[in-house]
Amino acid sequence: MPNSDPLFLSESRVEQLLVFDELLPAIEKALIDFSAGRVIQPLRGIVPMPQPGAFFGLMPALFEDVFGAKLVTVVPANAGRGLPTHLASIQLFDSQTGETLAVMDGRIITAWRTAAVSAIATRELSRPNAATLAILGSGVQARTHFLALTRMRSFQEVRVWSRTPEHARKFAGEIGATTVTVEEAVRGADVIVTVTNAAAPIVRGEWVKPGAYVNAVGAVGLKAREVDDVLMRTATVIVESRESAACESAEIVQSGAPVYAELGELLAGKVNKPEAGKTIVFKSLGIGAEDIAAARLVYRKATAK
Ligand code: NDP
Repeated sequence: MPNSDPLFLSESRVEQLLVFDELLPAIEKALIDFSAGRVIQPLRGIVPMPQPGAFFGLMPALFEDVFGAKLVTVVPANAGRGLPTHLASIQLFDSQTGETLAVMDGRIITAWRTAAVSAIATRELSRPNAATLAILGSGVQARTHFLALTRMRSFQEVRVWSRTPEHARKFAGEIGATTVTVEEAVRGADVIVTVTNAAAPIVRGEWVKPGAYVNAVGAVGLKAREVDDVLMRTATVIVESRESAACESAEIVQSGAPVYAELGELLAGKVNKPEAGKTIVFKSLGIGAEDIAAARLVYRKATAK
């Protein structure tokens, strides 16, 4: 018989338990372990849903003493229903016994683990004196990325662009940023974050200042693009997983841009950081190890005596 009933952790409980300063080292370890081959993680499985652009994703991973899977739905039409477009739950198991430990909300974890990965990459790869931040997008990830990245660099100016001007204005008002066109946001920015559902590139390489650092987060899968081939081909490209990059990133596959390193390889010191002054794209896709590391952290806090 299992030791006890699995824990159920709602979205609000996960939000209480997930502390960003504790999440950062957990995510850093997951990235290092992943690149060192200590994580078992197949590519995510994707099942199309009937609504336009909607899909169900299955993201399993074994990390340290737990294994589990994030089950995620992406339903773009939810934006018009007042619902989050990304919803998820995570199920955790004991890796020794296979007992179910917990079932928890995965939406908050998705929002924060993605921003935590970008924050770590920004800390490692952007200029320490980066002064201008451009955020393209105004949704869930835009908000967590603003909070996470401003922990890493002291930006003097934050620029926001979003497809729907009203959304851009609302978000910019919340964070004290200015709203501009995409080109105005990108030109001269030291750090650029793309967190949109765009299907075709919105960022042109010719606008990007040499030496800028780009977190390209929104385009996941072989159909979506946010940045163009010019940027991909001129930048040094860093990813979470070479395998995911080759199978799940239109930006990498279509541009043919070589991958310089996995973030975990840089964090472990196995690969040198790109030379100072290089333009860098961190092509974020999200990997199951990040979700399971975050869920393990939340579970441990929930069960701490
Ligand atoms: P939201 O639904 O909260 O926000 C979506 C954003 O995309 C809005 O700002 C919206 O702009 C914009 N947008 C939608 N369609 C288009 C379009 N055709 N062209 C340009 N902009 C568009 O989503 P999230 O913030 O949760 O996610 C943002 C992106 O990040 C998604 O693509 C998601 O799949 C991806 N993602 C990536 C992860 C990773 O690990 N790399 C993890 C989680 C998400 P507006 O409202 O102004 O119209």
